[in-house]
Amino acid sequence: KGSLVIVGSGINTTCHLTQEAIARIKSAEKVLYVVGDPIGKNVISRLNPEAESMASFYEPGKPRMTTYEQMIARMVECVVAGLRTCAVFYGHPGVFAYPTHEAIRRLRGQGYQARMLPGISAEDCLFADLGVDPAQHGCQSYEATQLALYRYKLDPTVALVVWQPGAFAQHTYSAEEYDLSRLPELLAYLSEFYPLEHEVCVYEASIFPECEPRADWIPLRRLVEVPLTSASTMYVPPVRRAVPDPAALERLGLPVATSP
Ligand code: SAM
Repeated sequence: KGSLVIVGSGINTTCHLTQEAIARIKSAEKVLYVVGDPIGKNVISRLNPEAESMASFYEPGKPRMTTYEQMIARMVECVVAGLRTCAVFYGHPGVFAYPTHEAIRRLRGQGYQARMLPGISAEDCLFADLGVDPAQHGCQSYEATQLALYRYKLDPTVALVVWQPGAFAQHTYSAEEYDLSRLPELLAYLSEFYPLEHEVCVYEASIFPECEPRADWIPLRRLVEVPLTSASTMYVPPVRRAVPDPAALERLGLPVATSP
């Protein structure tokens, strides 16, 4: 009977693939993958020469949701055909990745074995490269368009990660740079919580071994001027420290705040 395991290739496939993911890719009867860079593709194809890229489902102007449905359909099709299938998605396969969760949900609903293994996400790389510990101030993590759309309340005493600013307000795929003419809308929303002079970082983890990440620190107001790509993630440090609630300190029996 067919089954599905979804693994992550990490951001830098050569270095981030876990031993468990490598074993699953090698032993699968069918490998499907969504990994953008040529070195990553090469690594996967060497592990399993029959590996099939699903990147062709991305087409300029096609709604991203259509592409995701095609990926889900292809994963389900292979499993229903009786193949032990391994799907590889870049980063962590369950982080900002709708088709992976949905394929697992649908297959389990049909009685098939389907599971996900963790991988190294862009946010994991960000924590390492920018020296950010989410335990220190907490961490808010939002998709850029959803942030502006749903108007999630931000707490400027908490660190903030904004995903996909380089595809702001886009629901279709583009192989070129996206039209970011609506980016001022994101800036305007962020400026309701953060001063325009607050230093933020446009971050891109390196996808290749031995290469440095991009970490451009800029005042928030310059967000609309700097280049943003499909690999950009934005990091906004807290503006000020949170103050512990004296009554809570007493109730918890703590002498002072626990964060260093
Ligand atoms: N599953 C991926 C992960 O675990 O990191 C995330 C996929 S999400 C569809 C795409 C977004 O991830 C990008 O818009 C960007 O915010 C972030 N991202 C992808 N590659 C990145 C990189 N090399 N450096 C920083 N952020 C990256």
